Amino acid sequence: MAWQYTSPTDAVARRDVDRLGSMRAWQRKLHAAGFLGAAWPKEYGGAGLSPMEQAILNEELARARAPQVVNAMAIWWVGPAIIRYGTDAQKQRFIPPILTADEIWATGYSEPSSGSDMAAAKTRAVRDGDDYVVNGQKIWTTLAHISDWFFILVRTSADGPKWAGLSVLLMDMRSRGIEIRPIRQIDGGSEFNEVFMTDVRVPAANRLGADGQGWEIVSSALVNERSGIAGSIRFDQALDWLKTTARERQKLGDRRVRQQVADLATKAAIMRWAGMRALTDSLHERMNPHLSAAMKLMSTSLVQEFSETGMEVLGPWATLMDDPHLAPGGRWAKQFLFDRSMTIAGGTSEVQRNIVAQRVLGLPRK
Ligand SMILES: Cc1cc2nc3c(=O)[nH]c(=O)nc-3n(C[C@H](O)[C@H](O)[C@H](O)COP(=O)(O)OP(=O)(O)OC[C@H]3O[C@@H](n4cnc5c(N)ncnc54)[C@H](O)[C@@H]3O)c2cc1C
Repeated sequence: MAWQYTSPTDAVARRDVDRLGSMRAWQRKLHAAGFLGAAWPKEYGGAGLSPMEQAILNEELARARAPQVVNAMAIWWVGPAIIRYGTDAQKQRFIPPILTADEIWATGYSEPSSGSDMAAAKTRAVRDGDDYVVNGQKIWTTLAHISDWFFILVRTSADGPKWAGLSVLLMDMRSRGIEIRPIRQIDGGSEFNEVFMTDVRVPAANRLGADGQGWEIVSSALVNERSGIAGSIRFDQALDWLKTTARERQKLGDRRVRQQVADLATKAAIMRWAGMRALTDSLHERMNPHLSAAMKLMSTSLVQEFSETGMEVLGPWATLMDDPHLAPGGRWAKQFLFDRSMTIAGGTSEVQRNIVAQRVLGLPRK
């Protein structure tokens, strides 16, 4: 097989591969019930739900503590990008298996020398007959080790401004010349990878949109990614969990802890109503899409406040991670470490502030 995973014995990454069956089964159940791809055309398997119905469904899934779907990245932004920019043939080929989780997708924007400055991507795609030949490296590629397809930003031209020479390709992850190396995270997980590409051939028919349209496509995909991240954080669960921790550590009578919990409950309520306002704005087609940057900024900062408070309430117990003796409310360490990543993924908080300043508030760049 051309595709290779360089650490097949890596226990953490292997666990994801082993769990894939049950994760796919859960997504298929949701899809079969008509709960996935809310605004996607029915002809490609979309649910045909209104945004309001989708919001109600999301609330109910959160209330039921339903797990996230395995193909979340494809549902949030790859699928919508293919629906918006793809040919009919691409939509028919790629959309149904996204919904059924038969094909899992990874996203390839970040490179070792271009993360925030995505337009500086160096991975080259050179046209050769009916194919592109791709050479380069991506990094921080979530779920590459279990993905079938790669939504990848490549440089197809070095002329003009750097953003103008970019295109998006839909790359088969099992193509010859792809090597995937896991990155071990501070929380013990291994969801990220480095992806190395050497002379990988991608049919030109798998280019999404026009040659040079990559910047526009990923900019619109990032709006969806930021909304997805903001919408996926379940503050009601975080609040319940925090109260459980305080109760178990017998800190509910502590005035300072009570004040902290009340403060976070208030902020969580504000986030909920801000989400409702965004929904109302989008129903009336007056939503500035760049508000997604503000929502992502606020929700990812707030989720860190929750886990910092959880750690503080735990005191010395906070140093234990994955310990079987921990009470249910004692498991903050992993969450605390994971939440650090939330203000980086999908664009850092500094980048979100720049977007809010320029694209929402209309402030000058300098
Ligand atoms: C959980 C997680 C999942 C991810 N998954 C993926 C994925 O699947 N695919 C993918 O392509 N990438 C992924 N990433 C990578 C992520 O998009 C980048 O880490 C992010 O865009 C920042 O890029 P960088 O790490 O290169 O940092 P840099 O861009 O080098 O930034 C370093 C620091 O400089 C600051 N900075 C940079 N530019 C500016 C500016 N103009 N103004 C102010 N401050 C600035 C940043 O805020 C940051 O603090 C993921 C990251 C995380 C944490």
